[in-house]
Amino acid sequence: MRILLHRADGKTEPWIKDFAKYLPDAEIEIWHAGEKCQACDYAVVWSPPEAMLAELATVKAIFITGAGVDALLKFGDALPQQIPIIRLEDAGMAIQMAEYVTHAALRYFRRFDEYETQARAGQWAPLPQHRKEDFSIGVLGMGVLGARVLEALAPFGFPLRGWSRTEKTVPGVQTFHGADGLDTFLRGTRVLVCMLPLTPETSNIMDRTNMGKLPQGAYIINVARGAHIAEPDLITLIKSGHIAAATLDVFRNEPLPTQHPFWQEPRITITPHISALTLRRESVQQIADNIRKTEAGEPVAGVVDRTLGY
Ligand code: NDP
Repeated sequence: MRILLHRADGKTEPWIKDFAKYLPDAEIEIWHAGEKCQACDYAVVWSPPEAMLAELATVKAIFITGAGVDALLKFGDALPQQIPIIRLEDAGMAIQMAEYVTHAALRYFRRFDEYETQARAGQWAPLPQHRKEDFSIGVLGMGVLGARVLEALAPFGFPLRGWSRTEKTVPGVQTFHGADGLDTFLRGTRVLVCMLPLTPETSNIMDRTNMGKLPQGAYIINVARGAHIAEPDLITLIKSGHIAAATLDVFRNEPLPTQHPFWQEPRITITPHISALTLRRESVQQIADNIRKTEAGEPVAGVVDRTLGY
């Protein structure tokens, strides 16, 4: 069996070693621009260059080394249409998301962001505590990662809410779904966490109108994709005080350009797209399992529905 591998960072050796461990029969072919590849059974990519698309037309499945598939689906009709695309499900990312979002939410609830500012100014000044009942946390997207984040938040006793495309029942979480449920979900959410895939339906979902429906003094935590937020609208709402603060891990342009106004806004906390990193060993293990299942004709999890875009 041959696997075609593309790594934008060029660091292919550790991946080859892990494939040798978890799928010893596989030969790994590295994709190089301008070189013709031998016929491969599977492709393993993250954000492949357009020049690689032709090679993807003959594989049995395309494996993505991430949970989101927007970097592949952006090619639209230029992508081979019949080939299954299989994304990572969790593979060590869910616990990282749980850590990141729990930290960010607790930081705002316990006002550590304000204490950090006060400490830099040499101020010793206890602030009134937020009340838990006023601090509902709403997660946009209750998939593999969103569900794990809600589970991690549950023991703290915040009112929890979740929004998804299809209807869900989750004990301890007030659930909403579809376009009709969004308005009520937003109006009752103090801390808005975005964990959606980027699709035509979810792009710009956090625009002025929708963020304006959040209660005064709301918080935004975006760990999904930069294009979920209308960035100028967030600046406007933060300056007006409607949004108290935001923690952002993802941006329309990454790395975030040095001139971007977010860098100048102290109420915006920036991290460099690290909320859930792809863990190589866990990812190769999951891909190897899925290849074995595909070869055996068994169903695999993580198959992307191209019409839904995730
Ligand atoms: P899933 O596919 O498991 O979950 C997606 C969730 O979003 C589902 O609950 C789905 O609803 C919901 N959803 C999708 N479209 C809509 C819509 N139009 N309206 C309402 N709800 C919708 O994905 P994961 O949880 O595995 O990953 C989520 C995203 O996290 C990824 O797509 C990626 O963009 C981002 N990510 C970011 C990382 C980072 O480091 N910043 C790392 C990893 C992922 P339903 O359940 O009804 O289908």
